[in-house]
Amino acid sequence: MDIQLQKIVEFKNQISLFIKREDLIHPIISGNKFRKLKYNLTEAKKQNQTTLLTFGGAFSNHILAVAAAGKEYGFKTIGIIRGEELETKIEANPTLKKAQEFGMVFDFISREEYRTKNNPEFVNKVEKKFGNFYLIPEGGTNELAVIGCQEILTKVDEDFDFICCAVGTGGTISGIINSSKDCQKVLGFPALKGDFLQEDIRKFANMDNWELITDYHFGGYAKIDEKLIHFINDFYMKYSIPLDPIYTSKMTFGVIDLIEKGYFPPKSKILLIHTGGLQGVNGMNSVLRKKNITQININV
Ligand SMILES: *Cc1c(COP(=O)(O)O)cnc(C)c1O
Repeated sequence: MDIQLQKIVEFKNQISLFIKREDLIHPIISGNKFRKLKYNLTEAKKQNQTTLLTFGGAFSNHILAVAAAGKEYGFKTIGIIRGEELETKIEANPTLKKAQEFGMVFDFISREEYRTKNNPEFVNKVEKKFGNFYLIPEGGTNELAVIGCQEILTKVDEDFDFICCAVGTGGTISGIINSSKDCQKVLGFPALKGDFLQEDIRKFANMDNWELITDYHFGGYAKIDEKLIHFINDFYMKYSIPLDPIYTSKMTFGVIDLIEKGYFPPKSKILLIHTGGLQGVNGMNSVLRKKNITQININV
């Protein structure tokens, strides 16, 4: 068996739960962000580009992944960061601080301007400021990213009935769908509110054996509550598997809740994809500490 594939537990009705530890494939460029960057880096080299430019928020897994990949594979990196107020708070932000240590140069912009980041005028302006670059979209999703994510599932995963993963922009689940088998069902758990995802996934996915389960976003992107924190801490105590607060915990919570509610037929073999994101735990804990809420108590 693949070392990244482990059985977690068996529930009643012989429903068994497994996890694929994509969080372990690279020490910093974890999980799906590594898969999404892989062929983009090849393409950037092919185009003789020396700089990668991308976008993200304060605790973005993608920002850190690009910074680390740039350092490892010899690219300069530029991060356009949402929120001008962060410019003076880099030291207090574990994600940005680490990205800076990897050599990333930041450009902090207002939330308003950030919304225009896909307009040609904005890209022109950035080009004037920084010169040529290879652009990687927010969250890292594009066609090459989906091709990279098609490598998440391998031969050993063929006998699972259900494959479950967290959804942000939909790139990762699209790759998983494309490499799944007809008889498998892929369930996506959006970590944010909004119904634009269905359409985005259809752009990249070439099969219909999937569904989005939209009941487990916990109020929206990066929103968490004490119930979810306790879930993360309990899950870690029971199974020694660390889950991140933004994505994988919401998906895992959802799957276990659905098992308890009888959603899955008896004898189902369910595979969770651990897409990583553990670098975000420290940042989230600093927010929780300020609000005097229980912290995430896992070793990452
Ligand atoms: C970015 C991210 C996702 C979402 O991936 P998409 O391809 O944007 O849907 C899921 N899990 C983790 C840990 C992530 O960092």
